[in-house]
Amino acid sequence: MTKLIPDAEHDDLHLGDRPLIVCDVDEVVLEFVTPFEAFLTENGHELRPTSFRLHGNVFNRADGSETPGEDVSRMLEAFFESHDEWQTPVVEAADSLARLSEQADVVFLTAMPPRHREVRRRLLSRHGLDYPMIATEAPKGPAVLALHGERPHPVAFIDDIFVNLQSVRSHVPQSLLINLMANATFRAMAPHPGDGVDIATDWAHAEALIKAHIDAS
Ligand SMILES: [Mg+2]
Repeated sequence: MTKLIPDAEHDDLHLGDRPLIVCDVDEVVLEFVTPFEAFLTENGHELRPTSFRLHGNVFNRADGSETPGEDVSRMLEAFFESHDEWQTPVVEAADSLARLSEQADVVFLTAMPPRHREVRRRLLSRHGLDYPMIATEAPKGPAVLALHGERPHPVAFIDDIFVNLQSVRSHVPQSLLINLMANATFRAMAPHPGDGVDIATDWAHAEALIKAHIDAS
């Protein structure tokens, strides 16, 4: 597809002559915080979020002490190694994307080490989320630019993270930018996603925003 994204990081990508929807995975189409909480509990820890982050908000269930950051990182890695046993689809994501895919190409852009790509690919497909996926730790703005280039069609980008939305905003400024986060606790603590970003309360809302954007183009 592009020099920016190595072949090892993406499925076959053949965009049609029509709009493009680039969609994050964790907290957008797959639950992440909720199953990671369950994973922590099974491993003797718990998430007690008082801020919009994991590190610093995980505690040892046995003695109540804060779990060191390196242990949180280690458990995150272990979680991703077996994430297909934990993560489930976000409500309405598959149905909304199925309807939108009648009008637009859908591509998943997930920020994860490419070594977890195969597990995630199978998990998404198992739930009917059978759209091509890019798994990369590179910034998302250049990735969307590499995908969409100078095509004249509408483009929408959906993500839960401020930095990713603003990265796409700076590289593909014509994008419709939608902030969507499945977990209600973290959504309530999330920083504002920044100028030019629409905040969707759920998939029905996101779908309506995208459809209106496409229809207005
Ligand atoms: Mg995400």
